[in-house]
Amino acid sequence: QIQRALRSLCIPLERLHVMKGHMMQDMCKGLSRQTYAQAKVRMLPTYICSTPNGTEKGNFLVVELCQNQVRTLLVTLYGDGNMSPQMMYKIFDMPEGITQGEGEALFDFIAQCVSHFLAETTSPDTSSSEERLPLGFVFPFTCKQTQLDKAELLSWSKGFSCSGVVGKDVVQMLQSAINKQELSHVDVVALMNDTVGTLMTCSTEGRPCEIAVVADKGSNCCFMAEAYLVETAEETSGRMCVNTEWGCFGDDGTLNDIFTPYDESVDEESCNPGEKRFEKLVGTLYLGEIVRHALIALTAEKALFTGTDIAVLKEKGVFTIQHVLDIINNEDGTTDVKRVLEVLGLQPSERDCGRVQQICRAVVGRAATLHAVGLAAILSYMCQTRDLETLMVNVGVEGELYTGYSRFEEILQSVSRLLSPECMATLLPSRDGSGRGAAMVTAVALRLAAQRRVVNEVLGPLRLTRADLEKVQALMRQEMERGLGKHTNATASVRMLPTYVTHTPDGTEQGDFLALDLGGTNFRVLVVRVTEEGISMASEIYVIPVAIMQGTGERLFDHIIDCIVDFQTKQNLMTQTLPLGFTFSFPCQQMGLDKALLLTWTKGFTASGCVGQDVVQLLREAARRKQHSGLQVVALLNDTVGTMMSCGYDDPKCEIGLIVGTGTNACYMEEMKNVGTVEGDEGRMCINMEWGAFGDNGCLDHIFTHFDRVVDETTINPGKQRFEKLISGMYLGEIVRQILLVMTEKQLLFQGKPSRKLQTRNIFQTKFLSTIELNGLALRQIRAILNELDLDASFEDSVLLREVCQAVSLRAAQLCAAGLAAVVEKMRENRGLDQLSVSVGVDGTLYKLHPCFSQNLQKTLKDLAPKCDVSFHLSEDGSGKGAALVAAVASRAA
Ligand code: ADP
Ligand code: MG
Repeated sequence: QIQRALRSLCIPLERLHVMKGHMMQDMCKGLSRQTYAQAKVRMLPTYICSTPNGTEKGNFLVVELCQNQVRTLLVTLYGDGNMSPQMMYKIFDMPEGITQGEGEALFDFIAQCVSHFLAETTSPDTSSSEERLPLGFVFPFTCKQTQLDKAELLSWSKGFSCSGVVGKDVVQMLQSAINKQELSHVDVVALMNDTVGTLMTCSTEGRPCEIAVVADKGSNCCFMAEAYLVETAEETSGRMCVNTEWGCFGDDGTLNDIFTPYDESVDEESCNPGEKRFEKLVGTLYLGEIVRHALIALTAEKALFTGTDIAVLKEKGVFTIQHVLDIINNEDGTTDVKRVLEVLGLQPSERDCGRVQQICRAVVGRAATLHAVGLAAILSYMCQTRDLETLMVNVGVEGELYTGYSRFEEILQSVSRLLSPECMATLLPSRDGSGRGAAMVTAVALRLAAQRRVVNEVLGPLRLTRADLEKVQALMRQEMERGLGKHTNATASVRMLPTYVTHTPDGTEQGDFLALDLGGTNFRVLVVRVTEEGISMASEIYVIPVAIMQGTGERLFDHIIDCIVDFQTKQNLMTQTLPLGFTFSFPCQQMGLDKALLLTWTKGFTASGCVGQDVVQLLREAARRKQHSGLQVVALLNDTVGTMMSCGYDDPKCEIGLIVGTGTNACYMEEMKNVGTVEGDEGRMCINMEWGAFGDNGCLDHIFTHFDRVVDETTINPGKQRFEKLISGMYLGEIVRQILLVMTEKQLLFQGKPSRKLQTRNIFQTKFLSTIELNGLALRQIRAILNELDLDASFEDSVLLREVCQAVSLRAAQLCAAGLAAVVEKMRENRGLDQLSVSVGVDGTLYKLHPCFSQNLQKTLKDLAPKCDVSFHLSEDGSGKGAALVAAVASRAA
């Protein structure tokens, strides 16, 4: 019988694995918005989003509401890694009946305790000083917490039943009571459950503790979860401490098969049968009871205490955890066992002593093992959700079972290792978790609040309000009008250049064409075949060395001809003379479709002798120099126009082209009668806005930040292309880098130490923003990027970096939207429509690959131009296709 009993208390390894799986499932259930209401493992968000980092300092007050006491504590932290906090405390007994009386009286009493305590511990001059005293409130009841300092009591327990508190914010109630005591310098800044404290006290500098296990009368665990997985809380970035409330694990029956008859008896006799099933197997409140029921059963089966009276065992609670621990902790012999049992009033034989000891060991060993199962579930869950192959983590442990049972730590460690071999947990003892930890929580909350203020100061100027955006839209509109006006054009920052493209494609275009694409990241030569079936093409990318980009114009155009010849040779096109469309993405004053004076270089080009010249002519001259006679340049166009045309081939509503790549620009179909710079009033013409230069006349100075000015000053064209420098791929990374430098200087990042690499211009690429902002914290990638820059980033550094990138890319998308809003609104008014339906052809890697840019752009545009229904089409190779289509439309017209 004894063997059978011992076997029933011993859970096989496979069963432990299954149980761990169930625990993990329940955890997910508790975190999900759809299923949390039914979950047994409650997974309550605590709104504690960081662990201490050792820099916390100052005085912190803690009030803990206990069973029949109020504990007050004053903790002084020195910012020394939290190695040696100074603490003073005082315990107040609660008056009879107050826990069943009026809620207000309870809170008044707590506030009085605070008042007495402060009067004793602080000298009068400090208490009257201006300094605020933050208070952390340990309130061990089930609350619906919505902020660190906002928690609605859901229900009382543990014998409390004060009126007028359920459904109220208990932080608010305590603050009001404290204010009544004329302690107006005391601020209640955090409310927490007692388990959270353990996690907080084990963290010191360079050693964050991210899991806490409390193995006490009850049992519970909390850990730092990825905030976006805590769907029951609003917070989505970073991490948040989750209070698992795992004591209720198994309340849906999942643990029934490991419940022994002794466990069932304990459950039946408890005040909450069927509830807290896990806790009843592991909490020290129950372990003595389990042993007691086992002894009764085994005696009945005549396996123990034969012939003696065991009536004393019939009384609930006689066998305490202390008895159990005394019996098992003695390794040599059974003298202690005998003494304990005799003190209880039993008359054990030598054999009885040995068997009782075995039973006790089995019950307590099982409790330790089950704690390990829970811990293993948490470990694996963290490892998985952090996308790690191995997890190294510190675990704070506290409680009677941990301190009282000599093998607890060993079992917790070895069994969790067996169940979660991918995780390495280091167990750390916690002392006075709830009190000291509450001070830590409070300190961390204040540290974060102070940090938040500085972050907001730095990022504030980049955050545009709706009014800011409306103003940008209005300014853009104004500059557009000035650019279109015959007399104002010369001084407008948005040049509104006529393109001589008067129609979008109608789908009937046909023929073979050559196309050139110059002005993007790559220089390309293409052959494009437009047929009834559609468009096909072949292309080749050629490098333009910086020496040529920035050398003489002759060299540049000679090089272009060389590339064309190479391409024609490879494609076997040398004998044909195909019409050529030239996508030339720099601002040009166009005099006709094939006549365009370069106004200025942008995007890193500076080739001499070109500005003011007809680019088509420069190309023709180069062809002549190179004796290439089979070249027929019929059209020069901007890449925005090409993008609009290529989308227009499939969608007749496409009357806008937009580029957000290295640079940014837009074009759209304007009424000829509004184009003051070209003769004629009939029909429409595509206008190349050159909006990148918007603001070059100073009209956007109010939105430029310190970072924008620094970035502008270090470019080859300071003061030019100011709008573009807020939006496009060539600059966003550099803006982020400037912000990172300032934040590091303000000690917000990288422990105040920038790497040499981070101080290198343009080292932070715009494509990093895409990776960093990708949904679901791709922490490892963020770390990898930062490691590339020789930066050793903490988790919080990564989260803040992400926020910086978001601020910069969001502003870019919003400004782009404000510009587009001006365009679509003008088109709508031009056509006298209440509602305009129009499409935009878009090209550019930033727009295409950034995870949020297009969404933010479209959302803002909808908001700023509600009367316009705008859809966006990605252009596939717009520059090439578009050049051919412009050439086709032109040759059709000719
Ligand atoms: P261009 O505008 O020169 O024709 P692209 O449209 O390809 O060429 O844009 C290139 C720019 O896109 C680069 O300057 C770079 O800053 C940016 N970029 C490249 N990759 C990404 C990415 N993954 N996410 C966001 N931006 C990117
Ligand atoms: Mg391009």
